[in-house]
Parts: sequence; structure tokens; C-alpha cells
Amino acid sequence: MKKIFYFIAFIISLTRINAQQVENLFIVTEKGTKSISAWQREGILYVPIAEFAQTLSINFYENAATGKVELKSNYFLLKTTPRSPYIIITPRSGSVSKVYQLPTSTYLRNDETLIPIQFSTDALEIIVEHELKFEKPNKLIFGKKNSSPIEGKQWMYDIPDLPPTTGYDITGISITEKVNGTLISVHSKSRIPSYFSSLKDDELTIIFRKVNADVQKTNRGEISDLIHKIDTRNVGPDVEFKIKVGSNYSTSEVMNVDGTNDVIITIHNKVFSQTDNNQKKKEKWSFDVVVIDAGHGGKDPGAIGIDNLKEKDVTLAIALKLGEIIKKEMQDVKVIYTRSNDTFIDLYKRGKIANENDGKLFISIHCNSTKKKPTDASGAEVYLLRPGRTEEAIEIAETENSVIKYEDNPQRYEKLTDENFILVSMAHSSYMKYSEKFAELLHKDFDLNLKIESRGVKQAGFYVLVGASMPSVLIETGFISNKEDAKFLKSASGQKQIAESIFSSIKTYRKFYEDAMDAEL
Ligand SMILES: [Zn+2]
Repeated sequence: MKKIFYFIAFIISLTRINAQQVENLFIVTEKGTKSISAWQREGILYVPIAEFAQTLSINFYENAATGKVELKSNYFLLKTTPRSPYIIITPRSGSVSKVYQLPTSTYLRNDETLIPIQFSTDALEIIVEHELKFEKPNKLIFGKKNSSPIEGKQWMYDIPDLPPTTGYDITGISITEKVNGTLISVHSKSRIPSYFSSLKDDELTIIFRKVNADVQKTNRGEISDLIHKIDTRNVGPDVEFKIKVGSNYSTSEVMNVDGTNDVIITIHNKVFSQTDNNQKKKEKWSFDVVVIDAGHGGKDPGAIGIDNLKEKDVTLAIALKLGEIIKKEMQDVKVIYTRSNDTFIDLYKRGKIANENDGKLFISIHCNSTKKKPTDASGAEVYLLRPGRTEEAIEIAETENSVIKYEDNPQRYEKLTDENFILVSMAHSSYMKYSEKFAELLHKDFDLNLKIESRGVKQAGFYVLVGASMPSVLIETGFISNKEDAKFLKSASGQKQIAESIFSSIKTYRKFYEDAMDAEL
């Protein structure tokens, strides 16, 4: 019989931690000694789990946005999340997870998830397939190889019995804190046929129809400033969740997680009100930095069009022209280029550059293309970061995302599945209305100003937009595989017209943004 156990609680530690890098952790294997960075806090040594994996050539996934890190061996997956006291091991061929509870939480430092190495050896042994011994102060010693590789199936019977949760549909919840809000995963063994939610007097009520809940495992108190309390009751054939929210509450959503019976409740805070003082808020959110991202570059030419026209050259030319116009016409706004010459920049770094410079708007410039050259397809498109709606949009995102093949560590990008999109959209939800507005303006202005047709606003999952924590759009300025478009995109005057049209949208957008900020702050 196949049993599914869910791990139940995340203990959330929001305390800011001051840690010092003391030294390295030395990893002693048969092949020699390697060292990775390590930080000491209250006598416990922490190491970045991703660096650990990289150094030992273990396959891993790192989601820079959430801090989630996943290590893969032949038979097992190991998952860690920041600020969690759990390490979860799942056999790749099974669905039964084993949860290792640490005496202390993992934490996030410079976007890296750090684990307390001395308490993590039992879980790591399963992945490295060797015995591990931590020796104070900073040595991790590989012992003998696990005699025969443990297969997922065998191991499943080895799990200590978890308390039975039979009899209930909803067996527990887990809570994850995000910068922009809180995510409550409601774990259910059976499909929840329907649900509805309402908000009244700072209380969010969600009714799950025709299921029951193990309320001892779903009630919580004192969660955060955003969520004060969760009370659950079985009412007749339904379950009622009453979630007391704080004044920081902005919106919430209830979503199904594809492929499971779980439901996720996302509760968003007012991201634009995080600083206390009004003047400071105004400064923090003032429209002072625009980030222009010229697609591709260096060893990555992007699409190749008519007469060998390279996408990377067109995008750079438009980006630089746009930057020049902003510098001249909007002198109080700083222009940041993710690249200003023919160099290769990793996709995730482009968002990082934007965030580090406190950008207020992120504009990624690209050119569309088709396999068939020349093509009849022509026109400009503006893209928002959302699950792709049409096959064509998904294909374009896949093409643009495929440039990660030029990067040293393409594994860092987590596939944008529906579940990941929930996390991503959560991080972007507070900016979405601004991204939408800007996209709409771009479309209208292109339509008005350009001889190139404007094909409208579309949506798909572009990695380059995932990383930028600000309103952001991606523009496909035209088809370089179309003769007319290519001619226009190649010409200095065409590039200038596109840049001018984008600038005119920025001007209108700025007004919209500043009015909205005035109202919100
Ligand atoms: Zn491109």
C-alpha cells in the first residue's frame, strides 16, 4: 500500500542573524581535501548548501527567488528552504518523504541558503552515498561508501512510522514566509471539490467544501505581522479556515497545486509600505532608476535574421539609443544598462543588476524570429511574466530562455512549472499592475508611432523577468527574419523610432506610477 506522508510544520524564524565568515569547511574525501565557505553562529558552523553541491559535483537546483535548493543523487532528492528547520529527502522513484528536523533553522545569507553542517550529516549521507562525520571545528570527513546503493523502493519501508493521519482529508498546513507575503500550503489527501473565500474585518474566511480537517494540525497562533492567527473548524460537511490578518494585508488568492490535492493560500502584504517614515517611503519608491536590458550579447548572438542580422546587435543599439533619450529628457532618472557593449551576461545576473541598482522599471529588449527565413510574420510584441497562454508565446519564451545553454550553470534555473509560477507570481504580484500598465502603454505607442505592426500584450515565462523585483516587461521589437522588419530594425532611424516610442511610454507610465505612489503612501 502506498502511503503518503506530508511534513507538517515550518517553524519560522524571522530573526536577523549576524554571522561571520570564520573560515572554510574542509571536506576530506578519498580524492583529497576540498574547502567551501563557512559561517559560524553561536558555535554552529553553517555552509551554503549550493556551494557544497557544486564543490562535490552533485546535481542541484537553486531557485534564487525563493532560496530553495534541491540536491539530486541517483536515487534521492534532498530539499532545503531558507529559515526552515527541516531537510526533506524523497526517493526519486517514490513519494514517501523523510523529514530530518534540525535543532536549528537554515538561514539565508546573500541569497544563499545555509545549513548547519554538523546536524545535516545524516541527510547528506543519503545524497553523497558515503558515511559522513563532522569533526569540530570545521572538518567533514567522508567515511566508507554505502555498501550498495540504497534504492528508493527499499528505503521506503525503512521509514519510522509517522503518526497516523487516517480519517482526515486535510492533514496539516505548512507556512512559508516570502518578502511579499506568506504562503500557506494546505495538505489534503483527497481532492477538495470547491472552496470560496471572503474578507471581513481583517478576517479572511476560506471554506473548503466537502472535506474535513485534523484541526489540531491546522490551527496556529502568532505567525507574523501579516497573519496573526489561523483557526480551523469542521462545520457540517465543510472545513472553515479563519485567518486573522494584520493591517499590512493587501490581497490573497487560493490556488490548486497541479498534480496534488494540495491547495495554496497566498497572502500578500503591501509591498510599497514597508518602511515606516513617509518621507523615506517616498524616496524609496521614487521613479529614479530605469534598467535597460539589451537581450543576448557576446558569445550569444540571439536570433540570426535576414542578411545575417544579429539580434544582439539590434537590441544593444536600441537599448543605447533609449538610454541616451532618457538621460537627455529625464535628467533626474538614472539609466542602468545590464550591458552597454557586446558582452555575455547570464540571465539571472540581469535581474540582479536591476535589483542591486534599485531599479523602478525593467525593460528587456529582444527581437523575434522564425525558423523559416524570410517569413511573413512581422510586428512587435510586449510580454509580461505570467504562465504562457498560447503555444506561440510559450515557444518564444522557450527560445529566449534557451540562451542559458551558454551559461556555466544552467541548472540554477528552476523549470517554470505551475507550482513555481505560484511562487514567482507571488513575488511579482505587487508589481503586476504596474507591469501591465506599462505594457499596455508600449503597445498603444508602438501602434501609434511605428510602421511596424504592434501585435499586442502577451504573457509567458521568461527567466530574465523572474529575477527583477520591480515592474518589468520584455519587448520583442520585431521579426529579424522578416525582410521589412529586419530592414527597419537594422537601420539607425528605425532603432531610434523604437527607442522614442518606448520613451514616450515611459513618460506616461512615470506619471501613472507617481500618482499611484502618492495615493498609496
Ligand atoms: Zn532574444
